[in-house]
Amino acid sequence: MTNEELWKTVLTEMELSLSRANFTTWFKGTAILANNSGAILVSVPNGFVKEWLENKFNRQILNIVRTLHPDVRDIKYAVGGLRMSIPTQKKDFAQFMPERTTEARQDTDIDKGTNLNRRYSFNSFVVGSNNELAHAASLAVTKNLGRVYNPLFLYGGVGLGKTHLLQATGNQALLEAPDKKVLYMSSERLTAEIIESIKNKTIEEMKQKYAKLDLLIIDDIQFIAGKERTQDIFFGTFNELYGKNKQIILSSDRPPSAIPALEERLRSRFEGGMIADIGIPDYETRLAILNTKCKEKSFEVDPNSLAYIASNIQKNIRELEGALNRIIAFSQIYNKTPDFKEVKKLLAAYLNTPYRKTTHQAILKSVADFYNITQNDLLKRSRKKEVVRPRQIAMYLLREETKSSFPEIGAKLGGRDHSTVIHAYEKIKKEEDGDETTKQEITLIKERLYQAFE
Ligand code: ADP
Ligand code: MG
Repeated sequence: MTNEELWKTVLTEMELSLSRANFTTWFKGTAILANNSGAILVSVPNGFVKEWLENKFNRQILNIVRTLHPDVRDIKYAVGGLRMSIPTQKKDFAQFMPERTTEARQDTDIDKGTNLNRRYSFNSFVVGSNNELAHAASLAVTKNLGRVYNPLFLYGGVGLGKTHLLQATGNQALLEAPDKKVLYMSSERLTAEIIESIKNKTIEEMKQKYAKLDLLIIDDIQFIAGKERTQDIFFGTFNELYGKNKQIILSSDRPPSAIPALEERLRSRFEGGMIADIGIPDYETRLAILNTKCKEKSFEVDPNSLAYIASNIQKNIRELEGALNRIIAFSQIYNKTPDFKEVKKLLAAYLNTPYRKTTHQAILKSVADFYNITQNDLLKRSRKKEVVRPRQIAMYLLREETKSSFPEIGAKLGGRDHSTVIHAYEKIKKEEDGDETTKQEITLIKERLYQAFE
């Protein structure tokens, strides 16, 4: 009996004991992924379904399976893998609550040992010219851990797919070689762990744990900027792994050269491998991503609406997905697909983004956060390099984003003369036109600025 036949039998029997709607909700898109002498792995479309099958239906499913294969001991459920083994019905999705789905996902999909979220895969990652290199390098790494591109350093703006790609790389590396030791950490979590082990005097244990890894992934490494103790310990771990040809992958919102307060020795390590950026996706890629997300969510949205979203939300894939989720939520609440006019209304919140108002205070905060200095540093008289440039950027953004007068801006920034402000404004304006790094920095600061307003 093939896996397919076995699962079909399970489905037929389950169908008898459930209402049609319930059956579709819990068993749509499920299939047997693997069947290894006594242990069966069933793939499910999301964490919500996983939770229900595990908690409510597992016994029943196991009983059915055992009538055919008495030696089966255990059934496990995993999110992802084969999709849509049962034809989907558009309306059935209406039974899912989107928020609940996300919630359930978060705690059931994350593996405690590796911190990897099974939801992220290469399959669900759309490749476009914006992320081609980052994608290819990541994929190559999964097949040759530690042997090509080490470290691999990915950078790009908020919501452009860094975490997705890192997580997919970890998951894929484990598929290629299940015995490898993989660990995914956000840099905040890494920092917290280091602080904790300093407190508990368990630094050595912690170092040993890291030394055993084959693949260490650190997301958003820019946050270790300015944290000396963390950098120090991380430097040791980095060298240890690197020296043994163990793979390290890092992500950041900007290239190593633009991370302030990063120790030089770390910067040069980060620059020693492969650096790949992830940019803003073009229209075709955005549309392809939307289509992928629709499929993932088993939901149909009319092509006009998708095209409208794709052409109007350009800079952040998370927002792109957010817009799609709104449409799905509408369809569930009203039990109908929104027409074009309704789509426009639904997305107004996202589309107004560029016109949103900001404040002096918010700009100062975004700039200070970005450069890892205090707002007070921006106002002080200091001429240190670390604060002079951020201050100039702040002046530039105050002018551009609030249209305030130069004297007004000078007054806001610790009572500086308007000629100082004009000088800074013109300098940064010129740099923004000519210098790629400055342009990127400003884009990133603006991203933070307007996200803070949501
Ligand atoms: P970042 O870490 O860069 O801020 P994420 O990886 O969290 O961004 O991506 C934000 C959302 O966009 C996630 O839901 C992710 O799945 C999705 N996403 C980003 N890039 C892609 C892509 N190329 N294909 C499919 N989904 C993507
Ligand atoms: Mg991320």
